This record gives sequence, structure tokens and C-alpha cells, in this order.
Amino acid sequence: MSFNTIDKKIAGDCYTSTEAMDNLTVLCDEFGSRFGGTPGEKQAADFMKAKLEEYGCTNVKLESFEYTGWIRGTAKLEVVEPIQKIIPCISLPHSPPANFTAELYDAGDGAPDTFSEHAADMKGKVILADSQTYPAGSKRWVHRNEKYGRSMLNGAQAFIFKNHYPAYGPATGGIGHNGKGGIIPGISVSYEDGSFLQRLLKRHGKVVIKVETTDENRPMTSWNITGDLVGNGLSDQIVMLGSHYDGHDISQGAQDPASGAVSVMETARLIAAHAGKLPCTLRFALWGVEEIGLIGSYEYANRHSDNMSNYRFYFNMDGAGSVKNKGVNLNEWPDIEALVKDWQKEIAFDFKTNQSVHAHSDHYPFLLKGVPTGGLESVPKSTGGRGYGHTRYDTLDKVSLRELQDAAYLASLVAMRVASVPAADWPATHRTPAEVEELLAMPDYTEVAEFEKMVDAYYAEKGL
Ligand SMILES: [Zn+2]
Repeated sequence: MSFNTIDKKIAGDCYTSTEAMDNLTVLCDEFGSRFGGTPGEKQAADFMKAKLEEYGCTNVKLESFEYTGWIRGTAKLEVVEPIQKIIPCISLPHSPPANFTAELYDAGDGAPDTFSEHAADMKGKVILADSQTYPAGSKRWVHRNEKYGRSMLNGAQAFIFKNHYPAYGPATGGIGHNGKGGIIPGISVSYEDGSFLQRLLKRHGKVVIKVETTDENRPMTSWNITGDLVGNGLSDQIVMLGSHYDGHDISQGAQDPASGAVSVMETARLIAAHAGKLPCTLRFALWGVEEIGLIGSYEYANRHSDNMSNYRFYFNMDGAGSVKNKGVNLNEWPDIEALVKDWQKEIAFDFKTNQSVHAHSDHYPFLLKGVPTGGLESVPKSTGGRGYGHTRYDTLDKVSLRELQDAAYLASLVAMRVASVPAADWPATHRTPAEVEELLAMPDYTEVAEFEKMVDAYYAEKGL
């Protein structure tokens, strides 16, 4: 299939339209954070469903599911010894309510070694760790929830997350385990306030703090939205593109994830006129409640697990309109990368490819099912962390139309080519459960898997 003319038509349509930015403006300025349980969440879901229909998608569905949601209450952090001072803070989603007084312990950048070497000192204390994603001495990404979980396993009273970026305020992010709420409270402070606490502790050797929060974990309903552009019927295979649409409640979540959600919608709009020539069906997905544990995408992959063998490829676009150096990251699928590299020669857009695996977005439930997965991500990978993401400053003004267009353009050209390959020529077959296990048996994953097992046991011990 020759894409020359189609690419040109898509480029013309893409770069002369403000549709993606118009949609982003509605999602962020009209519906707010779209965080699970807010009124804007359902309004956004209905809006996106209507848009997919307007673009010509068929089989457009709003699939509801139940989960453990969270309502933010008030949060108060007070130093009571050796001085008295109120420190601004926020609770981390899925934190249980709290009311206690305890000593502070400084765990620095939250390296796993710090938790194993100083376990005894942490018992009964409040552990402060910062948001550095690659702590000193650790070659792998260490997620907030691992720092939180290791505090819990060490018998800490609570966890305080310090933003490692100055001037961004406190960073938010879910805690807990497999969609279950956290057992110990978790709160978050700014770089400046966290640094103050660390200095105080260093000078005085002992700092006592009092924490009072009134958050609540409770059952809720959310929605996944999917819609299809049906191909010419020569193949029953599906190429899926998706992004979550929920942001964190303290923010508009404009970069993460809405820039990705509108890029998925824009890709549907751009491809609609051309999809009928493709053998595969293109399915566009907008996931609910990713931010507190990939809940929507897990729900979808489990609910439709009988059909997963039909999924040729899942392409994740979380925050895709904002990632720098937009490229194609594949989750260890070298044969697909070879194809993409061939396409690179004819696609008039500079991008790189990469192979890596991580568990922190909506491709992961599909990866676990053996589906070939990848994402529109920063290639080369940035190691800096989230930036504005997960802070109240992740707002519409941080996103440009051009970036949204670039994401939709690249995704359209790649997705159409993936969907154009005749079934007999598609180079990847699904991984078996044993192959998935083997893929994840890297040092990064074995360490995290061991940690997860300990958390499993801890939750079981608590009867949760
Ligand atoms: Zn995201």
C-alpha cells in the first residue's frame, strides 16, 4: 500500500486544524481535572464519546466499571518539636485518613538500599523521601509508591513525599496496592518545605510532627471510552491507540494526560477518511482512572481478555502531546522495530525508535496479556522526572498546538502502517504467559516483583 498521497492529505488536515487544541481547552478549562469521582470526569467521558462519533468512529462505547475511589479531605502538617510551625501539605490519593504525632525520619532520595539498611530506625516514624526518579546508587527508576510501600513495610507511621523540583509546589500521585487504598497515610510537600524539614532534623537530631487528614477511600464508578474505524474486512485484527483522560485532582492534567487523550482523538479524526482501505480495524481508547493504579485499562484488558489475541498492537499515548523528542518506544519487540525503521525512511517526520519496558502507564495491562505494545514516548528517554506533571501547574498554557499536531501526525502515520500490513506478513506473535514472565525477569523487575510480593503479604496479613 502506498502512503505518499495519504500522508500528504493527513499532514494538510493535521497542520491546518486547531481541533486538538480546541478539544484540550474543553477538557481542561470546562471539565477540570477529570479525576475519578469529579463531575468533570463523566462530562469529559460523554464529550469524548460524542467527538469519536462526530469523527466517524462506529461501535463507540462507554464502558462503566466499579473501583475503590478516593475523596480528598483536608490535610494539616504541623511541626510540634523543637519548634512549632504549620507546613502546607496535600494528601496523596488513596491515602487513608490520619491523626497522629510521630518523629520524622529523613530517607533522602528514597533509594531502596536506604530502606533495607535503616529499617530498624524507621519503625514508628514518619518517613520523608523525595521524588527523585533515579535515586543515587540505583540504576533503575524507583516509583513513589515503592518508597511509600517500603516505608510501610518498615513499620513507619506515615510517608511524606518531597518534590525534588524547586518552585513546583507539592507533587501528587497515587499510593496503595493493586487498586486498594493505602494502609499508612501519605502526604506531600514542596521542595522548599521538605528541605526545611530536613535542615531542622539535621540541626536538632529530632523533629516531631503532627498530621491530621480527613480523606476517604470509597466505592466509585468510572468509564472507558472506545470507538472503531473499521477497515476493509480482510483481517479481524485490531490496532489500538489509547491514553488515559483522568488527571490529578489538584491540576488540569493538561500535559499528563490530556495532551495524549486529545492526540488519540485527533488521530481518529485524521485517519477516519482513509481507514476503509486498511485490512485491520483501528480502535481508539480513552481510559478512566489511570492515576490511581491503571484501573481503567486493567479493567478493559481483563474484561476483554478473550479477544486479546485479536489485538495486533497497542500503542500508548499517555501525555503524548507534551513529550519531548517524540518517538516510538517498543516494549522489546525487535521485529516491529525493524518495520518501523523501514517506515522511518518514507515518513517526513524526524523521530527515533527505542526498546524499553516500564509498568507505569496503560500499555502495561496489555503487555501482561502478551499483546505487542509500545508507546509514543520521549526517545531518547528523559531521566529528569515529571516536571509540571502531577503538580497544580500542569495547565493548558504548558501545551502548544504544534506539539499536539506532531503527536497526532506521527501516531497517524505509524498506526496506519501497522494496520496496513497483511496478516501473513505481520512479524510479531503474542507472548505466552511464560514469555511475559521471562521478559520481566530483569534486575529492575525482579527487585520490584520481590517488593510487590512483600506488599501482597502485608495486605493479606491485614486481611485486605
Ligand atoms: Zn499519565
